[in-house]
Amino acid sequence: MNRLLLTGGCGYIGSHTCYVLLDAGYELIVIDSNINSTDIPLLKLRDLNYSKYINFDKNLKFISGDIRNIDLLRSIFLESQKDGNPIDGVLHFAGLKSVSESILNPISYWEANVGGTISLLKVMNEFNCGTIVFSSSASIYYSAGLKLLKENDLIKPTSPYGYTKEVIEKILMSTFESRSQNWKIANLRYFNPIGAHPSGIIGENFSTKSDNLFPHICMVASREKSYLEVYGNDWPTNDGTCIRDYIHVLDLAEAHMSALKMLNDSSSKIENINIGTGNGTSVLELVTIFEEVSGYQIPVKFSDRRKGDVPFSVADNSLALDILEWLPKRNIYQMCKDGFKWLNKNPKGY
Ligand code: NAD
Repeated sequence: MNRLLLTGGCGYIGSHTCYVLLDAGYELIVIDSNINSTDIPLLKLRDLNYSKYINFDKNLKFISGDIRNIDLLRSIFLESQKDGNPIDGVLHFAGLKSVSESILNPISYWEANVGGTISLLKVMNEFNCGTIVFSSSASIYYSAGLKLLKENDLIKPTSPYGYTKEVIEKILMSTFESRSQNWKIANLRYFNPIGAHPSGIIGENFSTKSDNLFPHICMVASREKSYLEVYGNDWPTNDGTCIRDYIHVLDLAEAHMSALKMLNDSSSKIENINIGTGNGTSVLELVTIFEEVSGYQIPVKFSDRRKGDVPFSVADNSLALDILEWLPKRNIYQMCKDGFKWLNKNPKGY
């Protein structure tokens, strides 16, 4: 496996995965509409790999466009076929990811996430490319108690965003079952990626629109916001705040490379795999660790619980450890340290 297509490769997780794959010698084609990004992260990758011999002009191509543009997708696959180096696999990051925005504007979420995936699968099928790693999400699980989530636990998302991820997994399952070709599919169910490359050169472009906690902590640290709003302090957890499984974005990126290797080494298969650390951290614990690492005070104000939130979402990651030959290596301090370094170097993002 040599040449890969990355949809949404300019985004937060996609750009860190580009770094890991380029470093390992893969040839990458990125397609991104830049609806929620720019192509700057791809340019920045050159600064990151400066000490190594990587031919960026050959190994990293960027195509500006929407994955719902099926003719554009066809032309990308065709070009690769023509130059004798067909696309061997796809990492499918492209999608819209805000839970709250999906509640306000569900149709655009169905259109972008599900519509985009359907056009991608159609073209993959036409070109006999059957290997895909899909960015799924822990938000598809029903999580009521305080137990680790397993891949075969109940799937019951609570937002249009979560519904689209559940439906895409179903589409992938029926595509696999159709046996229209040798499909090899990994649905990586991400828990909560945070942090950045330790250089501070690439990271997450924070937005006030974000539903995630870490960007909001960073916005308080950079004085864009005066306090951190914490939704509920009466959850059934030790300190009353919600517990999540934070994972360093580079550990998550490395899981993609492991998933590709697993698919490559196997015959036709489909796997749903939790990608988390298995460790839970509460909102207040994350705030305290961030304060320790950064030296900044993060004032907190409690408000009512947010609709759709759950008290506890932590992965049972034993399947990933077992079948991916992968181990999350960076702890929560490292995540905060690297995320803070990115913030310090890029207070306004890219
Ligand atoms: P991101 O918004 O930074 O990256 C997504 C990229 O996809 C962006 O660059 C955007 O411009 C692009 N894109 C969106 N729609 C497109 C389309 N129709 N055609 C082409 N490009 C398009 O998000 P991210 O955090 O990097 O997340 C990547 C994937 O992982 C998403 O599918 C997201 O749902 C999923 N995910 C993210 C998290 C998280 O906390 N960040 C958690 C679970 C799952």
